[in-house]
Amino acid sequence: MSDLQSNCSEGGMEEPASNFDAVIVGAGLAGLYMLYRLRQLGLSVRVYEAGSGVGGTWFWNRYPGARCDIESLDYSYSFSHELEQEWKWSERYATQPEILRYINHVADRFELRRNIQFNTRVTAAGFDEVTNRWAIQTDDGVNVSARFCIMATGCLSAAKVPDFKGLGAFQGKWYHTGRWPHEGVDFTGQRVGVIGTSSSGVQLIPIVAEQAAHLFVFQRTPSFSVPARNAPIEPAYESWMKANYAEYRRKARETRAGVIMDVNERSALDVSPEEREREYKARWAKGGTGFLAAFSDLRICRESNETAAEFVRSQIRATVRDPAVAETLLPRDYPLGTRRLCVDTGYYETFNRDNVTLVDVKKSPIEELTPKGLRTRSAEYELDSIVFATGFDAMTGALLNIDIRGRGNTTLRQKWADGPRTYLGLAIAGFPNLFTITGPGSPSVFSNTIVSIEQHVDWIADCITYLREHRLERIEATVEAEDSWVAHARELVERTLFPLADSWYIGANIPGKPRVFMPYIGGVGAYRKKCDAVAAQGYEGFSLTR
Ligand code: NAP
Repeated sequence: MSDLQSNCSEGGMEEPASNFDAVIVGAGLAGLYMLYRLRQLGLSVRVYEAGSGVGGTWFWNRYPGARCDIESLDYSYSFSHELEQEWKWSERYATQPEILRYINHVADRFELRRNIQFNTRVTAAGFDEVTNRWAIQTDDGVNVSARFCIMATGCLSAAKVPDFKGLGAFQGKWYHTGRWPHEGVDFTGQRVGVIGTSSSGVQLIPIVAEQAAHLFVFQRTPSFSVPARNAPIEPAYESWMKANYAEYRRKARETRAGVIMDVNERSALDVSPEEREREYKARWAKGGTGFLAAFSDLRICRESNETAAEFVRSQIRATVRDPAVAETLLPRDYPLGTRRLCVDTGYYETFNRDNVTLVDVKKSPIEELTPKGLRTRSAEYELDSIVFATGFDAMTGALLNIDIRGRGNTTLRQKWADGPRTYLGLAIAGFPNLFTITGPGSPSVFSNTIVSIEQHVDWIADCITYLREHRLERIEATVEAEDSWVAHARELVERTLFPLADSWYIGANIPGKPRVFMPYIGGVGAYRKKCDAVAAQGYEGFSLTR
C-alpha cells in the first residue's frame, strides 16, 4: 500500500494536497476521533465539515434547552486518560454549550483543526476501480482523492422541515431546532408556535414558554417523557468516577446501551402491582432513561409495557391540571420506549401556564402556513415565529445527500432504494474502502453514541493498520455477509415491540422512506464482540485485495 506509506506527513490545511490516505466527512465527535486515530497511524487525512466549527450535532442543535440525556460523565471520550481527568463537567446532564465547549477543547488539545476544512460540504464521492481510490468532490469545486472515505456524517444531522404549503408565504421568522441561529433567538413578547413534541420539542417548549407572550404547541403524536432530575454533579461522585474511570468504561462497553444502568432482570408481570408501582416510582424519582430498565421485558411484552405506559400516563394526569389538556398529552398509540423516550425538565408542568395552548394536530391537521401564521383544519393561529422541532431524515439522510457511487458506478441511493443494507453498520457491499461510523445496522442511536463512535473508530483504525501490514489496497463487505447481517438485525427487531410504532427508527417520519428498522438493537457489548471476532478472523465477511 504505497501511498499509505509515502504520504505520511501530517497532511491537512497547511498543504494544498489533493491526495490523501483518508478523507473523513464530518467533524463531530466521530470525525474528530477518527482524525486523531488516523493521524496517530501516520496517515495523511483531510476532514471536510459543512459547519464553520467542530461539534456536529452539538454545533447545529443550539436551541434553548438542548442537552444530552446521557449523563455527562458517561457522554465523553474515553480515549485519553488526561482528557477525562482534566475536564470538569458541571451538571448531571450537560447543556449543548458545555458539550460544544468540550468538543472545542478536544479539537484544540489534540491540534485537530489543521486537518479540517470548514464550511465545506462533500457533494459526491465515487470509487475508482482502477486505482482503488475514492474521488471526492466538495461544494467549493475542489476534487481530491483518498484511499479511504470515512463517513462521520452523524445519524441525526439531516434536518427535516415538513413540506407545508405556504412555508414561503409566512411573514414571521421560522427556525428548525437542528439549525438554530448561533446568535440565539429572543422570543420575548412574541406569539410562538412550536411544531413537534418529541425529544427536541420537550426540551425547548418549557424554555420558550417562559419567554413568549403566548406559546402554541402543535402536537401530532404525544411523547412519553420522563423527568431528567438534572442537578450539579456531586464532587464526591466525580472524584469516584475519575478514580475508577478505566474500569467503569470497560464495564460500560459490555452493556447493552454503553451505559451502566441498574437493570432489573425480572418481568413486570412477575411482581405484584404494588412492587411494580414502587419500582416505577423509584425510577421516576431518580429521573432519566433508566426508567426503561425497570423490567426486562418492557420492550418485548405488550402487557408488561402497558404497566409502565400507564404509570407514565398517571404522572401526566397528576401533573397537568386541566383534564382535557392532560388527556391530549397521553400517549396511547404505541408502546412506551418504541419511539425514543424523551427526558425533560418541566415539560408537562408547562401546560399549566396561562400563556401555553396545546393544539391537537392529529385531530385537526396543519393545512398550511399563512402570511400571518398557521392554519389547521379547524382554526387559524397568528404567530410571530414558528419553531420546527420536526426531527431529521435519520441515519440515511446525510449519507444519501451525498452522491456516493461505488463499483460499477452504482449509487448508494440505488443500492438502498428499499432501505439501508450494510455489514455491521460499518461497510457496504459494492462500496469498497468506504466506512460508515455509527451507520445504519450498528447500535449507534441505541447506545451512548460516544461509546459506539469510539468502538467504530478503533475498529476502522485497526482495519486500516491490518491492510497496511498485509499490503492490501482494498476491502469490501461481501453481499453474503451483508445479507446475513441485515437478516440477523431484522430478526432481533421482530422479536420486540418496535415494529408497532411509527418512529424515525423505522423511517416513518419521512414521506416515502422505506420502512426498515435502521439501528441494531442487539446491544453494544454483543455487537463489539461480533466486530472483534470479524477482525480476529482476518476480516471475515470482507473480501480483501491487493
Ligand atoms: P423527532 O423525534 O423526529 O420528533 C419530531 C416531532 O415533530 C414529532 O413530534 C413529530 O410528530 C413532529 N412532526 C414532524 N412532522 C410534523 C408535521 N408535518 N406536523 C406535525 N408534527 C410533525 O425529532 P427530535 O425531537 O428532533 O428528536 C430526534 C432525535 O434526536 C431523538 O429521538 C433523539 O435521538 C435525538 N435527540 C436527543 C436529545 C437528548 O439527548 N435529549 C434531544 C433532542 C434530540 P409525529 O411523531 O406525529 O411524527
